[in-house]
Amino acid sequence: MRRFTEDKLVIASHNAGKLVEIASLLEPFGITVTSAGDLGLEEPVEDQDTFAGNARIKAHFAAKASGLPALSDDSGITVDALNGAPGVYTADWAETPNGRDFPMAMTKVWGLLEDKNAAEPRTAAFNCTLCLAWPDGHDEVFEGCVEGRLVWPMKGDEGFGFDPIFLPNGETQTFGEMDPKRKKLISHRADAFTKLVAGCFA
Ligand code: IMP
Repeated sequence: MRRFTEDKLVIASHNAGKLVEIASLLEPFGITVTSAGDLGLEEPVEDQDTFAGNARIKAHFAAKASGLPALSDDSGITVDALNGAPGVYTADWAETPNGRDFPMAMTKVWGLLEDKNAAEPRTAAFNCTLCLAWPDGHDEVFEGCVEGRLVWPMKGDEGFGFDPIFLPNGETQTFGEMDPKRKKLISHRADAFTKLVAGCFA
């Protein structure tokens, strides 16, 4: 396992919600953080069918283009009654000609569960794969997960993406309603980040 010894890092994401959460997780480490957007980097094509495959594409692309270590996040929600969909295609389910529409995507997911009269609880998990890649081509990959269930209607304005319909196990609020400080402790991203810290920052 390679340790991170540099003092600068690129977050290889253009997703505003992820950027906020990753920057907040990195804060205690005193690293100067910049983002792929700040550097004017393009978004590479994510054509793999695994979170790890797509996380690697994003991190290596940003590391090579910037000459700095890059940290990417590929994540999504897997719904058991939909055989794991939308999974790695979570962002795609929100695509419209005018940009991403997550209320539309959440309505679609819930509609599919209603159509098949899926049993309650409608279990689901958020998955997050973080990839830390260096400009020389080395990388380290860490996977995180949080289990819960989908609820309807959408609740809360915090977070992003599918947060308003995800109720983590043992919690009384969806990720959309929850104080971001609590999400930061229990999320799939926090789980993967803890492993990254143990592996590369400790
Ligand atoms: P990608 O990793 O850029 O392919 O996109 C992942 C998608 O999964 C995001 O656009 C969100 O819809 C969803 N997602 C990932 N993490 C979260 C989260 O913490 N909350 C809500 N939605 C998330």
